[in-house]
Amino acid sequence: MAKHTIVLIPGDGIGPEVTTAARRVVEAAGLSVEWVELPAGATAVEQGFENVLPQRTLAAIAAHKVALKGPVTTPIGKGFTSVNVQLRKKLNLYAAIRPARSLDGVKTRFEKVDIVVIRENTEGLYSGLEQEVVPGVVTSLKVATELACTRIARFAFRYATRRHRKRINVFHKANIMKMSDGLLLTCARRIHEEEYPNIDYEETIIDAGCMKLVQDPTRFDVLLTENLYGDVVSDLCAGLVGGLGVVGGANIGDDTAVFEAVHGSAPDIAGKGIANPLALIMSAVMMLDHVHEEVIGQRITSAYKQVLIEGKALTRDLGGTAGTSEFAEAIIARLK
Ligand code: NAD
Repeated sequence: MAKHTIVLIPGDGIGPEVTTAARRVVEAAGLSVEWVELPAGATAVEQGFENVLPQRTLAAIAAHKVALKGPVTTPIGKGFTSVNVQLRKKLNLYAAIRPARSLDGVKTRFEKVDIVVIRENTEGLYSGLEQEVVPGVVTSLKVATELACTRIARFAFRYATRRHRKRINVFHKANIMKMSDGLLLTCARRIHEEEYPNIDYEETIIDAGCMKLVQDPTRFDVLLTENLYGDVVSDLCAGLVGGLGVVGGANIGDDTAVFEAVHGSAPDIAGKGIANPLALIMSAVMMLDHVHEEVIGQRITSAYKQVLIEGKALTRDLGGTAGTSEFAEAIIARLK
């Protein structure tokens, strides 16, 4: 088996705890890997790097093309631009994939939820173009380009086709933001008609869409959204299937990919050894698919499914009492 070189970014808060757990599981499942461990976030500055997204970290991801990343903390209402936003823009990781699926052994209000959120990752209100026009008046620019809207729409239809999904639903607010959200709809309709008529296509105004999601999430398949809506809706979908501890994710560009959970650095539970590492382990499984190590990924998936069904080593967010490493060890013990 070829040896993979993968950049590992522990991140802040619970990041080091969940990345250690995910790394142990991936290695125990048999991946031949050399990790290039580098910091990002507040941790990078604490370690003496020049800023929250060190050039060395960025260059390593650009060189090795694949990274597994823990969450990083971003100050609220002041301070530096989000590391995540910078990373996604600088490496052109234009598509976020966030699958939210019901899991046997995880009790939730609904069963048989299987939704994939495809989120545009580089523009919208996350362009960071904010200014104070006059004292007391600020603006935030929402940017939409035909290039990025077409690219994310094509990505979503290609993803749906390859994964044998039936329907794409664009969540939007083009009744109000007629030009920016309207452009995404125009591009998505065109890609559907010209390139992927095989996939059913729907559009839903996002406020009604959120209501429908919490009434009956089983009627949704692939959701395509711009940046901010995708951020919000993916946490909502996580809540439908057991919380942020059980939803993995990927940020994909044309030749580079960074795999990370949907959740943040969870400062409220950081350092206590109680965070659920499953979301990052699921992200690692997505990474294994990406590097064509599907068999190792399936081995990990079967093992964590067994742990969830047995219900003896669950973390607190899932109603158990196990710690982060105990949960990871339970998965490792069930690897076949
Ligand atoms: P959060 O996702 O960190 O936490 C929300 C809630 O979910 C908290 O109660 C937390 O304890 C719980 N939670 C999250 N992950 C969990 C896990 N693996 N196991 C058990 N419980 C878990 O969101 P927040 O508190 O709004 O944000 C905290 C920080 O994280 C902020 O600085 C934010 O900017 C940052 N953030 C980073 C990323 C990222 O790096 N990709 C994503 C989202 C938020």
